Amino acid sequence: MIGLMQDWPLLCHKILDYAAIQHGGREIVSRSVEGPIVRTTYAQARARALKVAQRLERAGFSEGDRIATMAWNTANHLEAWYGINGIGAVYHTLNPRLFPEQIAWIMNHAEDKALFVDLTFLPLAEKIVPQVPTIRQVVVFTDAAHMPQTSLANAIAYEEWLKEADGDFAWKTLDENAACGMCYTSGTTGDPKGVVYSHRSNVLHALIASTPNAMGISARDVVMPVVPMFHANAWGLAQSAPMVGSKLVMPGGRMDGEAIWELLDGEKVSFTAAVPTVWLMLLQYLEQTGKALPHLKRVVIGGSACPRAMTEKFEKNYDVEVVHAWGMTEMSPLGSLCTMKPDYAGLTGEARLDIAQKQGFAPFGVEMKVTDDDDVEHPWDGRTFGRLKVRGPAVARAYYGGAGADQFDEDGWFDTGDVAHIDPHGYMQITDRAKDVIKSGGEWISTIDLENLAVGHPDVAEAAAIGIAHPKWDERPLLVVVRKEGRQTTKEELLEFFAGKIAKWWMPDDVVFVDQIPHTATGKIQKTTLRDQFRDYRLPTA
Ligand code: AMP
Repeated sequence: MIGLMQDWPLLCHKILDYAAIQHGGREIVSRSVEGPIVRTTYAQARARALKVAQRLERAGFSEGDRIATMAWNTANHLEAWYGINGIGAVYHTLNPRLFPEQIAWIMNHAEDKALFVDLTFLPLAEKIVPQVPTIRQVVVFTDAAHMPQTSLANAIAYEEWLKEADGDFAWKTLDENAACGMCYTSGTTGDPKGVVYSHRSNVLHALIASTPNAMGISARDVVMPVVPMFHANAWGLAQSAPMVGSKLVMPGGRMDGEAIWELLDGEKVSFTAAVPTVWLMLLQYLEQTGKALPHLKRVVIGGSACPRAMTEKFEKNYDVEVVHAWGMTEMSPLGSLCTMKPDYAGLTGEARLDIAQKQGFAPFGVEMKVTDDDDVEHPWDGRTFGRLKVRGPAVARAYYGGAGADQFDEDGWFDTGDVAHIDPHGYMQITDRAKDVIKSGGEWISTIDLENLAVGHPDVAEAAAIGIAHPKWDERPLLVVVRKEGRQTTKEELLEFFAGKIAKWWMPDDVVFVDQIPHTATGKIQKTTLRDQFRDYRLPTA
């Protein structure tokens, strides 16, 4: 027997329709690339998205075409996404922090047909676009007055381009399984791999993301996605904020502590999300200036492990709840969030911090298990760690073009490449990337644990642990440390700080101090580069 309910396809542009109807006057505030703060609304964004769709169709673009964007979080970028989706085309976010050759490779692989680009990245686009023969049109997010000279013959200012459309346009009717977005993961080895989102997966992800156990945002929130739209869909906020009618604050290209604080304070932001490096800058700015965060209620921190000291500072000094989250581009991206079940809700102090350090539990729509290398499932005992595998309606079932097929099994489980354990209440904790874990005497040492501990020291700005070859133990940990400005902590002091906090055999064999630690385009510590840098390093214990 088949249910007799309506077949209402889950389409992304229906989210913007809904926002315009129910929350039409709710603001979208952007720090524009040209400088000033620009205010618009969901109703206006929808009107302009319809123009984008109409203009794209007039220019000959159609369903399935990949339309690249290389842009900061702004209302322009948002309406372009929805406009692209509205003709059944596929937005393809490019991470401008990648090397130009890598971006060109990705664009050629996706066969992008057009590019929407911010002024900031026009010089980069001038280098890349000539290497991508499929690109027919470049649209620069600006108006005629700000449009610079460019070597790109097919470039036009966005506002000029939009003028040729009146917005009298109806969204295309599509299958909800049609592709709507693409994002390549910058794997640490091998070529980048393309993740292809569908309308259905994005809508379901937005629903899942806004539930109270996950991000828990509503029409009463002011949401600022600091995490870029080019980093795993801005963690779904470009869809879930309009879906629930939150006011949206788009920070544009300025990510420094002062700029972020100005928006948090001036726009009364209640909810924000980004990787730990952004919050490191904000917290330093707050410490230097003595400023506070009177409006901010919750901050979601993920992309890399959120250090315990960061959670503690936000909660103790600024009364802001930290929600630690884990996810992947392949998961749209949310996989787990550390909100509190009743089992943990009553905890305070160090006991609460112990839980807050975990990456949290999976929301509805994410199945999770931890296995050994032979796919035998480990118990949920909070100790036994192994390969973390996931499945669900917003999890990839393949990469574009069939790359990386060995990460997917026939039962639909995706091997994340992360190493984790799960506790009896379902709280997952990442201990490492499978490639980064330190293998010492047949046992594993968690680099994340060592790094978290190190940044808990008052003199340490950042730390990375890597395995160094050892004749007896196979590998032993080396701790690479960036000191805070003007601080002089020593190896001996640091190791003393570690003593008693970890198993003796986890103690780093050596500590080296450096001026900076390399990062990937999504703000993670670049372990491959560090390992190369210390390839010939001899540990004092070797
Ligand atoms: P990306 O697809 O760029 O978002 O990267 C996904 C990877 O980032 C995951 O597979 C993890 O290795 C790492 N990651 C994301 N969130 C966390 C977190 N909260 N703690 C530790 N690692 C994380």
